[in-house]
Amino acid sequence: MSEAGDFSGAWVREAAVRIQPLIYRTPVVQWGRFFFKCENLQRGGAFKIRGAANRILSIPKQQLERGVVAFSSGNHAQATAIVAEHLGVQAAIVMPSDAPRAKVEATRERGARIISYDRLTEDREQIAGRILEETGGTLVPPYNHHLIMAGAGTAALELIEDVPGLDALVVCVGGGGFISGCAAIAREMNPAIRVFGAEPERANDVWQSVRAGRRITIPPPDTIADGLRTLSPGVLTFPVIQSLVEEIFLVSEEEILEAMRRVLYRLKLLVEPSGAVSAAAALFGKLPGGLKKVGVLLSGGNVDAELIRNL
Ligand SMILES: *Cc1c(COP(=O)(O)O)cnc(C)c1O
Repeated sequence: MSEAGDFSGAWVREAAVRIQPLIYRTPVVQWGRFFFKCENLQRGGAFKIRGAANRILSIPKQQLERGVVAFSSGNHAQATAIVAEHLGVQAAIVMPSDAPRAKVEATRERGARIISYDRLTEDREQIAGRILEETGGTLVPPYNHHLIMAGAGTAALELIEDVPGLDALVVCVGGGGFISGCAAIAREMNPAIRVFGAEPERANDVWQSVRAGRRITIPPPDTIADGLRTLSPGVLTFPVIQSLVEEIFLVSEEEILEAMRRVLYRLKLLVEPSGAVSAAAALFGKLPGGLKKVGVLLSGGNVDAELIRNL
């Protein structure tokens, strides 16, 4: 078992064994030199169940009976609710009042209690803290936890197992749980693999932080990529990003929408805006030259009907 201080690929391998009964091994779809890992087809419609399952399955049974608490704009909420339902425990989820309706409804359908808050004026961690005091439950954070990072990284583990010889990975970045788990296992399996992040121009907290050499906090960002509206990288994810991620690429709102269209028309895959951010970086010439086989993580596919019409 790994020490809490040193996050590594070993955490991801342990996670893969622990969560295997609860998740799908999602397919990989090739388009030219790009290999898309389809986490939009994962249970709950995003990779988030990997981290949520790894965290929740690690809670001792007696403690687990007091329930779990999460805060999320949607996909992590749904993932936590699915795992809680599977294990027969109560989930309380703190969600922003402007979260996509499809995500709120899907979470409610899983029997979770939803606590709504105003993203611009209220602090979701404070609200979650209050619920934890009331219930004695356990927090399932969306990204800043080694078990969450490790669970998320199992997507890259599967991709690298299924597609030998990748020379790079492109992963979208919100709080950085997904990319830090993916980078840790990828670099352990192949020390030469290059790991790139992709972030919306309008939510460039990690891009700024990497340049500044410290965690930068931005005002609540206005981007269509609702899963990437984090204000700063995590205390635990940022050092991993600093040491293992070569570069973060920024994409515009137009590029995100165009990537969604192309992935839908060409690959017949519906990805949500956050999930299209890595595809946008790959498709719109952000990557360095000379890469022959590139793994692109499509992180999720939960889209409101209204956005599909607007596409
Ligand atoms: C949560 C999420 C992300 C960002 O993951 P982080 O671990 O916060 O970086 C990206 N895409 C989708 C679809 C998500 O749900």
